[in-house]
Amino acid sequence: MKPETKGGRKAGALQLDLFHTAEPDRYGSLEKVSAEIRKCLKCGACRAVCPVFCEALDESYGARGRVALTEALLEGGLGLGPGFTHRLSTCLNCKSCVEACPSGVAVDDLVLAARAEIFEKGRFPWLKKFIFRHLLKRGRLLPPVSKTIAWIERKILKGLPPSSPYRVLLPAVKVDRDRNLPVFAEKTMMERLPETVRPEGEPRMRVGFFVGCATNLIFPRVGLAAVRVLVGEGFEVVMPRGQVCCGVPVYTAGDRVDARDLAAANARAFRRHDLDAIVVCCASGGLALKRDYERVLGLEAGALGAPVYDISEFVVEFGLDALEPAGLESVTVTYHDPCHLNRGQGQTEAPRRILEAIPHVAFVEMEEADRCCGGGGTFSFSHYDLAKEIGRKKVGFVAATGAAVVATSCPSCMMQLEDMLRRNGLPQRVVHVVELLAPYYAPLGAETAAGPQGGRK
Ligand code: SF4
Ligand code: SF4
Repeated sequence: MKPETKGGRKAGALQLDLFHTAEPDRYGSLEKVSAEIRKCLKCGACRAVCPVFCEALDESYGARGRVALTEALLEGGLGLGPGFTHRLSTCLNCKSCVEACPSGVAVDDLVLAARAEIFEKGRFPWLKKFIFRHLLKRGRLLPPVSKTIAWIERKILKGLPPSSPYRVLLPAVKVDRDRNLPVFAEKTMMERLPETVRPEGEPRMRVGFFVGCATNLIFPRVGLAAVRVLVGEGFEVVMPRGQVCCGVPVYTAGDRVDARDLAAANARAFRRHDLDAIVVCCASGGLALKRDYERVLGLEAGALGAPVYDISEFVVEFGLDALEPAGLESVTVTYHDPCHLNRGQGQTEAPRRILEAIPHVAFVEMEEADRCCGGGGTFSFSHYDLAKEIGRKKVGFVAATGAAVVATSCPSCMMQLEDMLRRNGLPQRVVHVVELLAPYYAPLGAETAAGPQGGRK
């Protein structure tokens, strides 16, 4: 018999009543989008903050231009040609324009609406469609694919200079040949831990951990650090095995049908466990679960069965007491605000509170810490030239601090910062905030049975 969820509904019957709209609305409500367009004063205050406009210096690549393009599309004055598609694809969804707009225009929603139209009626790259439909939705296929990539990286690509002829193969899969590739892990995060990890003694709460693809496949060390902190603070951690990709790359590309399937799969996976909270260590994944599932995909409020927190937000709210020095070598650390944690979730203080509380960390602010790094999830793969220029500015701010480490709160930013630092010949190490905190807690048991684990050191 399937377990009852907290709301008293049977987990297996959830699909029918998970959404408050029967069909995905391509515009997230046409009236809403038209109302956003009418709010635009054409003042141009969004131009100076748009990282893409600042590089392209072309109105049609800035926020005001995207509003005008979306308006022309809705009024039928513009078709879904390659010029339109390209310009709409160059938005990072960084939300800088939304923050700066005196009229409160949700440019991010307008761009997503236009992309949904492109996905529905325009030309959409076959490779992306294949990845959405056959890899992300069938989560079980991802680990073998990522392990194959890990093998190729270690056996073939490692050590090849950018000029190597073997690298000509990379553009065939839409990867720039001189890019520093993210290194896939040989063993995923989910393979390293059991579904449930318990603390010593009676748990304070039962916490669901949303792992996310980048943490699972590329940065298991981040997920392991997060679980170590949570368990050390006395929380029982559950990583539901049915969880899949958050769907961000899918719905930000315009595919709301497949994204709704992913959101529904995640809702079912988490509701099967009687959780008090869900914790995420990926800014974009957290924004999806906290806000976009409901706002963009029409998932019912509370469908995940528990409130969602970013890991820093959760630790500060429920667990961060004074830390005893652990004899670690001092290090100067600066912090980069991920757009989807800062402007997306309004979280800027919590990661800084953690960094300031860590005894071996000397925290130093960088200039324009909230400026987008140019990663933007898949943006840096599809628009690498723009990503390189935007990223170059960011790593200039990092270098000016003199910090040896740059901490952030999103695996996507970590990949971009890592690539940009190496590309610009800078030595800074890139870490997630929780990795600096983890050494203050007892390591998780070597054997990963669901038995009691350690507490704070
Ligand atoms: S979300 Fe960012 S990249 Fe997109 S239009 Fe706004 S400022 Fe520009
Ligand atoms: S800042 Fe807002 S109102 Fe002004 S042009 Fe940009 S979107 Fe329109």
